[in-house]
Amino acid sequence: MKKINIAIDGPAGAGKSTIAKLVAKKLDAIYLDTGAMYRAVALKAIRQGMDTKDREGISLLISKLDIKIRHIGSEQHILLDDEDVSKEIRTPEVSIGASNVAAIPEVRIKMVEIQREIAATTSVVMDGRDIGTFVLPGADLKIFLTASIEERAARRHKEMIEKGITHVSLEEVQKDIVFRDRNDSSRDFAPLSKAEDAVEMDTTKMTLDQVVEKIISLVG
Ligand code: C5P
Repeated sequence: MKKINIAIDGPAGAGKSTIAKLVAKKLDAIYLDTGAMYRAVALKAIRQGMDTKDREGISLLISKLDIKIRHIGSEQHILLDDEDVSKEIRTPEVSIGASNVAAIPEVRIKMVEIQREIAATTSVVMDGRDIGTFVLPGADLKIFLTASIEERAARRHKEMIEKGITHVSLEEVQKDIVFRDRNDSSRDFAPLSKAEDAVEMDTTKMTLDQVVEKIISLVG
């Protein structure tokens, strides 16, 4: 089969990762959750007691960063200095930190380099905020997923509980999403925005299967 690159962007909790994973499986492609990469950078900074908005400090940290992505079945695992931190990166503190480090151009340049390298050689369904606009402007298909804030918060909260993170309330999750949407949309460098040629889908009232089927039908 011919190599295919699909970009799935949208605000936090729109269902990008779940949908991207299912689409990738159907197309026999790799699924790449780019948010996990920004989260790993934030986790490293937090562990070192750094301010995640400290551009100079974070730029230095990035130059020595060892991030690896592994796929075990359909699950993406992220390794930070060879430690699997896939679960540790899912806390609210890391979410906010990720949104902060993601506004630093040096961080984005390094992450985007890794993301483009993967897409150059492999069929990939990549989810993030700037995939259609910046990382893969020539993607074969671009999707922009949205859903109401209430629905997104409820989905993210459920996902966290399923991952064993049970101490965070629905209100906290919603607050975190509102903060990140604002932060991600207002940054100067590669902000969250819909590519002109992306297909926008409001998934508030759609089932997972309906969203996946629709995307597959658009692949052609
Ligand atoms: O997708 P997820 O919620 O895990 O992403 C965490 C944070 O990483 C986002 O709030 C955003 O600031 C940042 N991000 C980004 N660009 C991407 C993916 C994620 O700026 N392509």
